[in-house]
Amino acid sequence: MKILVSLLLLFCLQAQFHCVFAQISPDSALSKLKLGNVRFLNGKSIRPRQDLERVKELSAGQKPFAIIVGCSDSRVPSEIIFDQGLGDLFIVRTAGQVSSYASWGSIEFANAVLGSKLILVLGHTQCGAVSAACKIPDVPGHIVTLINAIKPAAAKAREIPGDLLENAVKINVAMQVKQLQNLEPVLSKAVQSQATKIVGAVYDLSTGKVEFLADNYLEALK
Ligand SMILES: [Zn+2]
Repeated sequence: MKILVSLLLLFCLQAQFHCVFAQISPDSALSKLKLGNVRFLNGKSIRPRQDLERVKELSAGQKPFAIIVGCSDSRVPSEIIFDQGLGDLFIVRTAGQVSSYASWGSIEFANAVLGSKLILVLGHTQCGAVSAACKIPDVPGHIVTLINAIKPAAAKAREIPGDLLENAVKINVAMQVKQLQNLEPVLSKAVQSQATKIVGAVYDLSTGKVEFLADNYLEALK
């Protein structure tokens, strides 16, 4: 009940900015991202909704169609690799796309209040944070928070054949997808009711291609 009241308050707050809550389905959102990446890959980016007219339109409110939980790496800008524009993507970025309370709150806000029904956890090849977690070095300051969060994925990657970093990147994404799917109370309910989809993908730094992971990626490793 408390949650419902709080969300209602947030809805009211958002309504003050004349936001429209009609949103596209998770599958339609996923198609838009996939098509955008194909345009980018083929050198046919249309760079949509990136003009001043769009800036003015968005001053009344936003309804991003997807949430991207991605790495802070400067080589992975979501709007460019998915060929999207202003107001299209709600993006939460930390190194290794590790989430914690502040990012969970941001994701829940975009999902429950702004109405974005697709959440994409986007890792990438050659991720420095995942690489560091594989080596378990002595790291200074708060970097240890990132490393500790990725260590379980690195440990799992050591159990399977193939390239350690490549596998750790994928496993890290798959584990983060599961973590968000089970995150109480907002996301777990949204996923169970099938109103929201949370999927994982890995961006290839050397080709520009986004490879989507199968829903059962982790289970298939066993
Ligand atoms: Zn990274």
